[in-house]
Amino acid sequence: MQLILLGLPGAGKGTQAKVLSESLGLLHISTGDMFREAAAAGTELGSRAQDHMSRGELVPDEVTIGMLLERIAQPDAGQGIMLDGFPRTIPQAEALDVALGERGTPIDAVLYIQVPESDLMTRLTGRWTCPQCGTIYHVQASPPKTAGVCDHDETQLTQRADDQPDTVKTRLDANREWTEQLASYYENASKLHDIDGTGDPAGITARLMAAIESVSAAG
Ligand code: AMP
Repeated sequence: MQLILLGLPGAGKGTQAKVLSESLGLLHISTGDMFREAAAAGTELGSRAQDHMSRGELVPDEVTIGMLLERIAQPDAGQGIMLDGFPRTIPQAEALDVALGERGTPIDAVLYIQVPESDLMTRLTGRWTCPQCGTIYHVQASPPKTAGVCDHDETQLTQRADDQPDTVKTRLDANREWTEQLASYYENASKLHDIDGTGDPAGITARLMAAIESVSAAG
């Protein structure tokens, strides 16, 4: 299957994508993770992306589309993909449709995780990540056993520059517009599934699974 997770920052895309891709045997592709890895590795792509990311802006389409198309052309993407954080613009969605159409595996479903914006602000500003293993913690919802330290490898947790409060507001404002545009794009293609993203993560996973199963049964 080829699936897309859509939702505003903090809607839980990353957490759900990890769980779902493992249980469905899909390759989890997060363009945000790819940009952060490239920035950490100090590649040219990484430094171009970093300027935009630290301002809470989108990385330009020509950079993002090129990187994503290269990734989905790798053999391990043949098992099916779960996209998290891509597409974020209509040209990205169109480029993806063309590439997947050419290989005969179009998008099966777009899962739109919906969370009220007041909840998103609280969720985002309390998020801390392990730079070593990528585990995501939250000061209220899922704190580490020892404050500021990863449970798995004892690495010092970091707060992403774009999760700091002033940047979060800019990010939500910027993201709202394109998220709605993409929701309409996939609604017109009859691929959009609205998922209630409130409540405990296991309940959200169950609702996502039910939607995916309904698509796979229909296909
Ligand atoms: P994320 O981890 O998905 O929130 O992404 C972090 C940052 O990476 C975003 O705020 C953007 O600056 C950049 N980014 C990730 N995916 C994309 C994309 N599909 N298009 C443009 N910029 C992106």
